[in-house]
Amino acid sequence: KNYSKEDIKRLVEENDVKFIRLQFVDILGTLKNVAVTVDQLEKALNNDIIFDGSSIEGFIRSEEADMYLKPDLNTFEIFPWRPQQGKVARLICDIYKADGTPFGGDPRLVLKNVINEAKEMGYEMHLGTEFEFFLFHTDENGNATTITHDKAGYFDLGPLDLGENVRRDMVLTLDNLGLEVEASHHEVAPGQHEIDLKATNALDAADNIITFKLVLKVVAQRHGLHATFMPKPIFGENGAGMHSSLTLYNSNGENVFSNKEDALGLSKEAYYFIGGLLKHAKGLTAVTNPTINSYKRLVPGHEAPTLIGYSTSNSSQLIRIPAARGNNASIELRSPDPSINPYLAIAGILKAGLDGIKNKIVPPKVMSYEELATKNFSILEEENRLPVNLKDALIALSKDEVIKEALGQCYDTFIKAKSIEWNEYSSIVHEWELNKYISKY
Ligand code: GLN
Ligand code: MG
Ligand code: MG
Ligand code: MG
Repeated sequence: KNYSKEDIKRLVEENDVKFIRLQFVDILGTLKNVAVTVDQLEKALNNDIIFDGSSIEGFIRSEEADMYLKPDLNTFEIFPWRPQQGKVARLICDIYKADGTPFGGDPRLVLKNVINEAKEMGYEMHLGTEFEFFLFHTDENGNATTITHDKAGYFDLGPLDLGENVRRDMVLTLDNLGLEVEASHHEVAPGQHEIDLKATNALDAADNIITFKLVLKVVAQRHGLHATFMPKPIFGENGAGMHSSLTLYNSNGENVFSNKEDALGLSKEAYYFIGGLLKHAKGLTAVTNPTINSYKRLVPGHEAPTLIGYSTSNSSQLIRIPAARGNNASIELRSPDPSINPYLAIAGILKAGLDGIKNKIVPPKVMSYEELATKNFSILEEENRLPVNLKDALIALSKDEVIKEALGQCYDTFIKAKSIEWNEYSSIVHEWELNKYISKY
């Protein structure tokens, strides 16, 4: 796609679009939009739509009050679920300051900067995502419960699998918006599903993650359900991950990670990239697992990674090497969960990998299944473990100059927002504490 302003005007006219949503994300990756009517299209396309950024999370400084939205024309899509008369379209935007320069606190800019760094080194990263999520019933007030859709289905009569129908509707809607779905299936936990998006360049992948979440929420709601991307909604069950398959291509479109001679089919660049990811694993975790709840997923026994290593089979490792070889060679980073700000997370991931290549960081030997099985990892073995809570992850990030550099101006606002979250969590008296202590003491 390479849309011009004229193309957009034509598409709007031909499809009788009445509203345009100008989209961007805040520091937490929450989708925001300013809706304008078609009368304002010309102004929007000339980057002249102003919004007040002062109440957007992460855009807090007063001199950042007036911001301009610069639509990325290639992101134009018409929402298929809105009324077919008076259609609604969206454009994802970059954020500019009043002086006409890009706003450094825009997560999309942060990602673009790291993508450019890769480009200067001759690389383009592609990323495919395995989205896991839960479908829950809503209560009589329309609020989400943790009553799974499946359980209700279990007591239903007849062959009707509502979950399958919802998923099918989701896949069709994603397809309609140009997001290519590779596979979809029911996951391990009750009410848990997975939809996999085909790998694409890093910027599109991040934009797609934002779109994906919106689509799933909308479609679930239409079926009277709630789709959540909370990483661990139910204790004792698998959590929801967003495994990401990573591949580097060179400017000729060749897969840089492939080497057919190697035992695992990987090139030395791939090993260095893995080396970088392992070296920066701790610093990276705050952006790949940014919520308090993310760390309830990263526990042993639920196929989520806890150990900083790589393997071809073991699911407790940070990185898995898939069986695909040749042009399909890739590495799978298993830590990310769907509560990420995709722009910040992907920027951090790419930066870590590039650092591995720049500094030729050789990862330790891959551990065999037997070695892993006999190794008794204790909680004291800090060296090999991913951070166990958000606070440790934020401290690790604060010590990792490479990941900090990747986040640029978003670093400070991210730490600030997340510190507030941590402080709130640590001071609140939780249900668990009452159950544990109120009678005992
Ligand atoms: N749900 C697991 C996780 O949290 C992954 C399960 C799987 O895809 N094998 O990462
Ligand atoms: Mg999968
Ligand atoms: Mg899965
Ligand atoms: Mg996987």
